[in-house]
Amino acid sequence: MTNAPTTLFVSHGSPGLILEDVPATRFLRQLGAAVARPKAIIAVSAHWMTRGPAVSAAARPETVHDFYGFPQQLYELRYPAPGAPDVAKRVVDVLGAAGIPVAVDPEQGLDHGAWVPALMAWPAADIPILQLAVQPYLDAAHHVAVGRALQPLAAEGILVLGSGSATHNLRALVRGRHDVVADWAQRFDDWLVETVEAGDVEALLDWKRQAPMAAMAHPTDEHFLPLFVALGAAGDGMKGRALHRSFTHGALSMTSFAFAAS
Ligand code: ZN
Repeated sequence: MTNAPTTLFVSHGSPGLILEDVPATRFLRQLGAAVARPKAIIAVSAHWMTRGPAVSAAARPETVHDFYGFPQQLYELRYPAPGAPDVAKRVVDVLGAAGIPVAVDPEQGLDHGAWVPALMAWPAADIPILQLAVQPYLDAAHHVAVGRALQPLAAEGILVLGSGSATHNLRALVRGRHDVVADWAQRFDDWLVETVEAGDVEALLDWKRQAPMAAMAHPTDEHFLPLFVALGAAGDGMKGRALHRSFTHGALSMTSFAFAAS
């Protein structure tokens, strides 16, 4: 990749993804080498939900196995990357300057939305990492505003890594079937890629009305919201590019984007 992406959104799939060998795992395993080495990673995971913005500030964040019923091998994986309390403090400062108060959580570890993709992309675990929560009761515009406030950090080479899912309807999955795609999931994903690549932020902000099958693709918002933080952090006039597209479990999109100001 000649132009280093400013920010990323990855679909993290099922927690068990890391144990599989599918196109999405092959994509994530080469991602770290394909982008400029970040100074630190701000992981915006769908699995840390708070009422107001919150940032993690643990010096040695624990690997949290926040899932049940998966193979034992998965529970033995650790991601021992250092935390980034200094970056957490700067997140508080830049969001505060934008009028967005942020709570600091000194205990929060790394949930699987953060550590599973990070372990695949940066297996050496030597890049400081922290988490920024999503607010499931607040809208896309709020998350874009959070992202915009992070622009100065992104410009310094701190990676804003949104981690969610381009489609996320767990009731509609066909477990283990990576070779079929539900029509509604394909339609939503096609709209998303077209709209992101057109840089049409207005349409993205209005996704619940404009995207086909939006309520089916996201019965709840939390897995979609990290995309808006990554998009906002790329700067005004951002354009996105799909780095990867595939589906797992019949309807779980693994589409991932890089965002950069054009
Ligand atoms: Zn998830």
